[in-house]
Amino acid sequence: MSGLDIDRMAERRGDANWLEQTYRDPETQILAMHRGRLLVAGEAAQVVRLDASQLPGKVDYCAFLGRLNNRMLFAASVAEPDVEPLASHSHGQFMAFRQAIPRLPAEDASLAAYARALDLWQRQHRFCGRCGSPAEADPAGFRRICTSGECGKEHFPRLDPAIITVVGHQGRCLLGRQPSWPPGRYSTLAGFVEPGESLEDAVRREVLEESGVRVASATYHSSQPWPFPSSLMVGFFAEAADAGIRRGEELEDVQWFEVDELERAVRARDILLPYRASVSYRLIADWMREQHGVDVAAWREKRS
Ligand SMILES: [Zn+2]
Repeated sequence: MSGLDIDRMAERRGDANWLEQTYRDPETQILAMHRGRLLVAGEAAQVVRLDASQLPGKVDYCAFLGRLNNRMLFAASVAEPDVEPLASHSHGQFMAFRQAIPRLPAEDASLAAYARALDLWQRQHRFCGRCGSPAEADPAGFRRICTSGECGKEHFPRLDPAIITVVGHQGRCLLGRQPSWPPGRYSTLAGFVEPGESLEDAVRREVLEESGVRVASATYHSSQPWPFPSSLMVGFFAEAADAGIRRGEELEDVQWFEVDELERAVRARDILLPYRASVSYRLIADWMREQHGVDVAAWREKRS
């Protein structure tokens, strides 16, 4: 899942009349959501796209997502009584975003992640954080406004920056696993950026906390929006100052892997690499290609 090639048309977000007209346009496509779930078809083979005539007249709130493949796209949050009728009428099902996103094709997964981040923000910011009065969504869904005349504060969607890094040392890479992961899954180290830290500070602190390894340098690689809960994952290549491991409490295991050893384990299915559309997979794959000229994707194809 990467950034989506969508024209967000942010300049239209203040134009309520245009938004209303565009929402009603039969060519417009609308994603339906309900409390952390998304309407999908075929066990999440695709996101269901509706037009306004198929949706109830009143929805909780909408978000104007932008223009993709020459279609205007909205996401709408529907109320409980409309959930079952919508699902059966569209031959779809409301599936938890967390379950749906890994199954959806890439473009739909990115679109679902985008909608999910806005949905979560809307649901968790019903009240003004400054004065506690109810806050109302504006028509484009990118702003909530405090209803108190004295306050009137505008609230905007929040993102939590997190770093994720593949750490190398003398040709080996450092991977770890969390106890909640499927057996055999190993991945890059990651964690949220704390107030007062730069991204590079966060890389050094997280790697030290989770593995005891001291980072000598960190270089930006790429980033990925990640909607669980509402992160922006910022990917780094890091180089360790030394190899000494002292595992922290968060991980169940953390190890240095020689490339050959990792390849054998992945081919034998003793080790599972991260979900393919994730930034962690891309970091590992790019690091292997750049450092060792190795194609990680091929490890999955030819199994010994
Ligand atoms: Zn307020």
